Amino acid sequence: MSVHSSAAPVMVASDLDRTLIYSANSMALVGSDHLAPRMVVAEVYDAAPLSFMTRAAEELLEGIVGRSVFVPVTTRTRAQFSRVRLPGFGQGYAVTTNGAVLLHDGEPDRDWSRHIERSLGADCAPLDAVLGHLQGSGAIPAILRVRTAEDVFVYSIVDREAMPEAYLDELGAWCNARGWTISLQGRKLYCVPAPITKEAAVDEVRRRTGSGLLVAAGDSRLDAGILELADIAIRPAHGELDTDGFSRPHLAVTSASGVLAGEEILRFVSGILAGTLVPRSPAFVAE
Ligand SMILES: [Mg+2]
Repeated sequence: MSVHSSAAPVMVASDLDRTLIYSANSMALVGSDHLAPRMVVAEVYDAAPLSFMTRAAEELLEGIVGRSVFVPVTTRTRAQFSRVRLPGFGQGYAVTTNGAVLLHDGEPDRDWSRHIERSLGADCAPLDAVLGHLQGSGAIPAILRVRTAEDVFVYSIVDREAMPEAYLDELGAWCNARGWTISLQGRKLYCVPAPITKEAAVDEVRRRTGSGLLVAAGDSRLDAGILELADIAIRPAHGELDTDGFSRPHLAVTSASGVLAGEEILRFVSGILAGTLVPRSPAFVAE
């Protein structure tokens, strides 16, 4: 399979947190400190470095941005996303707020925003109902803080150790009955209206850019849709989908976990763009 046989550009859609960039707590470094990979800071928050990738990963990303339609796809809000500084960011398309916002050269696309507003129909409970539940009858001590994201969805900072085992299932069922979905990532528990998905926004960018082959990467349940939509997908060997044992014939899984999985994902994508990595279901092998 050659990605160069078609004139259509290859599109690379990738989640950010715990897929490409990592906080100190999510790096999962093993071995001696003096053998740790060299890192670059990908995000500064309150004047302190918060997210990182390896230097090799940044170099790989630079090459990918130059050879594909690269689209960051994140559940971060626009403000949270604007702190991420990586090669190519601020140019082209980016998907934030879990698909509710489509940025083009840093500016939100109004047509997409209108489309999103229309898609939140009668089957979907209003944000205040979910917020009220999390702060009212659904409140538990393990939910430390509840926040809204751009008036689109709700996320809570949770104490995972203190969270009763059945709570997630109960909250998931409550949300599903109201047209919402949930996802637990690290210390953040997301409640998102079901029509707001990363894959819908990615599909829109694919259409607009006339892209051909779609390569996608992600680690959480909110990324499952872009992995399904992609022709070739990869996920790290950690995170929510890994815990779920999420697997598909066109999906590769990294051998590394943590920040080195981010580098491995970019090396994999780079190999596809260079035509040196050929997907052969169910495994992916280098030629
Ligand atoms: Mg993620």
